[in-house]
Amino acid sequence: MFVKQHDDSLDSLLRPANWDEYIGQEKIKKHLKIILDAAKKRKEPSDHLLFYGQAGLGKTTLAHMVAKEMNANLKVTSGPAMEKMADLASILSNLERGDIFFIDEAHRLNRMIEEVLYPAMESRKLHIIIGKGPTTKTFSVDLPPFTLVAATTRADLLSAPLRSRFGGIFQLDYYEQKDIENIIKRSAKLLKLAIESEAVSILAKASRATPRVANRLLKRCRDFCEVNNLKKIDGDAAGKTLEVLEIDDMGLEPHDKRFLRIVIEKFNGGPVGVNTLAAALNEDRRVLEDIYEPYLMKLGFLNRTSAGRVITPAAYEHLGLKNEAKLL
Ligand code: ADP
Repeated sequence: MFVKQHDDSLDSLLRPANWDEYIGQEKIKKHLKIILDAAKKRKEPSDHLLFYGQAGLGKTTLAHMVAKEMNANLKVTSGPAMEKMADLASILSNLERGDIFFIDEAHRLNRMIEEVLYPAMESRKLHIIIGKGPTTKTFSVDLPPFTLVAATTRADLLSAPLRSRFGGIFQLDYYEQKDIENIIKRSAKLLKLAIESEAVSILAKASRATPRVANRLLKRCRDFCEVNNLKKIDGDAAGKTLEVLEIDDMGLEPHDKRFLRIVIEKFNGGPVGVNTLAAALNEDRRVLEDIYEPYLMKLGFLNRTSAGRVITPAAYEHLGLKNEAKLL
C-alpha cells in the first residue's frame, strides 16, 4: 500500500489554489468556509467532511483547499488502496495533530476497514486486534485530533454508519456553462494560450459540465494548434479538435451514442432494465451507473424509471432520429 501523491505538474498548475480561483459551487464554498473559520477560531481541526459527485467536479481540489485553509498537511489515499486493516492502521498511527486525511473513492472501502475508521473518527481511538480466537488481544491507541475528508462518486454506496460520522456532507453538482467558460479562460491564461470567445463557448458546451473535461479539451486544442502552427485557438480550431476526438457539440462521446442507439434500436427506446442493458453493451452495470448515465440524465436524454431506462424525445432529436419516444 502506498500513499498516493498528486504530482502531475500540469494538473497542479491548473488546480485552483484559493477560494476565488475555485469557480462555481458557491453554496458549497460558503458553507465550507463557515465550518473552517469556526474550527480555526476554536483552534481545533474541523469536523469530518464528505464530498460527493461525479468524477472531475472538484472534490480532490476541495480537499487540497481545506488543507491549505487549515494550514495542515494533507495525507492522501483511496478506498481501493487500503486492502488490509494494517494499511489504515499505519496511516492513522502516523497522523499528526491537525492533519487532513483524504480518502478518495470512499465507497470502495471494505467493511473491515470501515470498522476501524468509526472509532478513529468518533473518539480518536485506534483499536488494534492481535491474534485470533481465545488468544486475541485488543490494544487501544489514542490518535491526535485530525480531520477525515472523504470523496466519492457514489454516496449511496457508503454505509449509513460511515455517512453519519461526517459533520459536513456536500454534493457537488454539474457546473453552469458560464462557470465552465471561466474555468477554460483561467486555464488558458495559466497555459499562456490565446483563445477566442467563440472557442471558449464551443469547448465549454462540449465539456460535460465538468472542469476536468474542460481542461482536457483545452489541452487537446493546444496540441491541435501546435501541430498546425496556429497562434490562437479560434472557433474553427476548437471544432476541429472535437471532431478528431469524436466528441460532439454537447460533449457526447462514441460510448454515449452507442448507449442511446442500443436502447433505441434493441429495446425500442426502453424501458429496459439496467442489467439487461449492461449485458447488451457488454459493460459492467457500475460503469453504466457511474459514468454513462449521469451526464445523459443531466442532458435530459435519459430517464431512470421504476420499469427501467427510457430514452427521451430530446435524445432522438439530438441523434437526428425519427421521434418515436414514448411520451412519459
Ligand atoms: P474530482 O476529485 O472530483 O475527480 P478534481 O478535484 O481532481 O476532481 O478536479 C479535476 C480538475 O478540474 C482539477 O485539476 C482542477 O484543475 C479542475 N477544477 C475542479 N474544480 C474546479 C473549479 N471549481 N474551478 C476551477 N478548476 C476546477
